[in-house]
Amino acid sequence: METYDVVIIGAGPAGLSAAIYTLRGHLKTLILENDTPGGKVVRTSEITNWPGSASIEGSTLAYNMFEQVLSLKANYKYGKVIKIQPKKDYYVVITDDSKYKTKYIIIATGTKYRNLNLANEDKFYGNGLSFCAVCDAKLYENKTVAVVGGGDSALKEALYLSMFASDVTLIHRRNEFRGSDTLLQKVLKKPNITIKTPYEVIALEGDKKINSIKVKNNETNEVSYLYIDGLFLFIGSDPASDFVKDIIDIDGKGYIKVNEQMETNMKNIYAVGDVRVKDLRQIITACNDGAIAGQNIVDKNAY
Ligand code: NAP
Repeated sequence: METYDVVIIGAGPAGLSAAIYTLRGHLKTLILENDTPGGKVVRTSEITNWPGSASIEGSTLAYNMFEQVLSLKANYKYGKVIKIQPKKDYYVVITDDSKYKTKYIIIATGTKYRNLNLANEDKFYGNGLSFCAVCDAKLYENKTVAVVGGGDSALKEALYLSMFASDVTLIHRRNEFRGSDTLLQKVLKKPNITIKTPYEVIALEGDKKINSIKVKNNETNEVSYLYIDGLFLFIGSDPASDFVKDIIDIDGKGYIKVNEQMETNMKNIYAVGDVRVKDLRQIITACNDGAIAGQNIVDKNAY
């Protein structure tokens, strides 16, 4: 079994920041990721609150972080962690095809996208249904799309899609938006974005690809159809903590509880970034968490 000082689960900003600290502290570090390195940042169009860059593309920021970590000689592997096995003075991290021995673990798995739980949803994923405007907007040049959600992600990505699609319908289940007023005002100014509230999507239709959605007005219960080429879901996300919920303290929503050093209730297991209990889930706060956990482990080994 390969042995490491630290195994970091998740290569988003929190996990990559932690790696910068453990690697600079000369700890043998493995980063495990089961998706694209960079986490959700990769799927974000434009980031305007990262200090030092008034505006940077999400994919560029993610790539820069990943390159920096690789340049520090990180071990990086693809792997979906399914279990952590506590032993007397170390842990075994079990993925779908491997096992790794380590003294320290940093959980940086972030959150996973929510879906609508409608029939055909899995079948249409990649066939007209998307969770990523940055990845797929080009496919809908001069076409008709709908965006579901009322938070910052839905508002922001509707704006992004409006640069490609001819028509964007933003569907939200309430009349009030959860996202910022600044973004909402920008959306309202776009001539090719139509706001449809208070509506819920109740069915996805089409043969191989989505071609229409059935929507219900939440005030009148009236049902109607919307003919679209693509549907983008931005309805929030839930913590990716299922694989540790039996051994680590989580709150009622599944977020991992930590102390100020990012330590969980299990000795030498840390949780950082969006997966932990916190008020503000942003790239900068994810990096903060990663730095604290990484340096804490380095300090424990230096003295
Ligand atoms: P969010 O704030 O949780 O918003 C999710 C939205 O989806 C809500 O409007 C919610 O409706 C709606 N929703 C949830 N479940 C639904 C369902 N089953 N059917 C229909 N609608 C549903 O998620 P987010 O927009 O991804 O943002 C997450 C965090 O990241 C937030 O803190 C946000 O501020 C931050 N963020 C910031 C930026 C930025 O530019 N600063 C960009 C993106 C995200 P209700 O409102 O009715 O609950």
